[in-house]
Amino acid sequence: MNFELDEIFIEEDSRASALARRVIEALSPRVPIRFVADARAATLADRNAADPFGKGKRRMVIMRRRGAFLMGCPAASARYACCGYLVLALASNCPMDCSYCFLQDYLADNPGFQVYSNYADAFAELGRLAAGSPERQFRVGTGEFADSLAFDSITGVAREFVEFFAAHRNLTLELKTKTDEIDGLLSIEPRGATMVSWTVSPERVYRTSERRTAPPSARLRAARCVLEAGYRVAFHLDPIIAYPGAEDDYPRLAEEILDTVAPEKISFVSMGSLRMTPALRTAARRRFPDDPMLLGEDILCPDGRYRAFTPLRLRLYRQIADRFSRAGAPVQTYLCMEPASVHRRIFAAEAPTPADARERLCCAG
Ligand code: SF4
Repeated sequence: MNFELDEIFIEEDSRASALARRVIEALSPRVPIRFVADARAATLADRNAADPFGKGKRRMVIMRRRGAFLMGCPAASARYACCGYLVLALASNCPMDCSYCFLQDYLADNPGFQVYSNYADAFAELGRLAAGSPERQFRVGTGEFADSLAFDSITGVAREFVEFFAAHRNLTLELKTKTDEIDGLLSIEPRGATMVSWTVSPERVYRTSERRTAPPSARLRAARCVLEAGYRVAFHLDPIIAYPGAEDDYPRLAEEILDTVAPEKISFVSMGSLRMTPALRTAARRRFPDDPMLLGEDILCPDGRYRAFTPLRLRLYRQIADRFSRAGAPVQTYLCMEPASVHRRIFAAEAPTPADARERLCCAG
């Protein structure tokens, strides 16, 4: 394991779970473990800490999830050209620490690193989804509120989901990560039903802003490995940051991706520019005052988020999209959290409906 924890709380109800047993076996006595009747208090922010969010990340909380595991993407909105993504919440928060991460705002009140011991209950929810609309395809990701693989060498959860999805022909699992923790995946047969996607940034962004993540070159090597093991692969260039030098760095990153994975083997590439609610921008700048990536000029957009000026964003999107369009084979490229008007200007076509986008992204690559 590459990540450090200060302490682990385990809810009494979860003590006998397979997940708790695996964590205890791997981390005790290196990390202090406390058993509590109700772990919800352990997820809350310690307001007396110098960095309540950073402290919360280092406190793992193993507990039952009280609500549903499956939900629509929290970013989905009629304002945007959406991709129809569904989210499976198996954990909440992340041991890495990117200065732009939206979780700094989203989880400000409950930053404890929750991992849900009753994750197997999600199989019933997924089964109902698959059986309810057998003619439709669904892409379901575990990397929205947490990194999909950051602790997988210990929790071993990904394997069970890869096997479940392999048995359901209208479900596609997306494991999204900034790690190179892929060893647990290599001995499983995904049967084309799991894609592993990497969020990738130029080296410069990695160095200034992505603490404890794997270097971009290691992420690309890991993508090549899982591809050879039978997984589909995809990439998220998100957030794209409009810093001086970005117009050289992002096309070069696209080049590096294409040097590593042949275009016909890439399921899709998503692009999204750095976007921050005022609260996120305040939290991020407070935690990382010296990060130059947080200091660019931006404007408040109609959705209440700050973004780089539209001409700058469009130029970066075009350069990247253009590089993928000249790859020698079509690479599906889409925009995240941008309005249909931006989609039209980049791709000279109408944005697909969320349902169409979902079908396309499930079937590509
Ligand atoms: S890897 Fe993703 S979830 Fe983790 S801190 Fe970075 S942006 Fe947030």
